[in-house]
Amino acid sequence: MRVSLPDLPYDYNALEPVISREIMELHHKKHHQSYVDGANRALEKLERYRKGEVDIDVRAVLRDLSFHLNGHELHSLFWNIMRPPRENNSPDGKINTLILSEYPSVQAFQREFSETAKSVEGSGWAVAILYNRSIQILTVEKHNLMHVANSKVILAIDVWEHAYYLQYRNNRSLYVDNWWKLVNWDYVNRSI
Ligand code: MN
Repeated sequence: MRVSLPDLPYDYNALEPVISREIMELHHKKHHQSYVDGANRALEKLERYRKGEVDIDVRAVLRDLSFHLNGHELHSLFWNIMRPPRENNSPDGKINTLILSEYPSVQAFQREFSETAKSVEGSGWAVAILYNRSIQILTVEKHNLMHVANSKVILAIDVWEHAYYLQYRNNRSLYVDNWWKLVNWDYVNRSI
């Protein structure tokens, strides 16, 4: 099995002014590509190991595979759940119902998600998962240290510095607040 870099569903400049073309291009072509390559390297090692062609440190290779494959999956989702910026970009439909079954208001959900994203230590993500038909917010350290079995990630914001630093410098908070204008709630609704 091999994975490949998906095309973005829009142009590199489509998310401006919230996320610059320069960030999008580097993020997709360099960072996401490196997770695809890393996952494929680990998959190839495992394949050769199974055929008896090489000896490997299984634990190290599986650690690599977990990091890169989750990096690949989270980035693929991240591109899809964004679209060109809109003011007053509120969730509607199924996601709205889901949020309101767990939170007193959409604002309360967004506040908790933003707070989670702003407080991630080092490199990671804030995600919302669908678990047991309810929505929950979690932190992901790096790309992979989070797993809740039998859950599905439906919303994710990348707060690694490579996602915002060129444009926002150390102001992660402003990046997170602006990011809500990009959320493609139609895509999120189709995924749940
Ligand atoms: Mn990233």
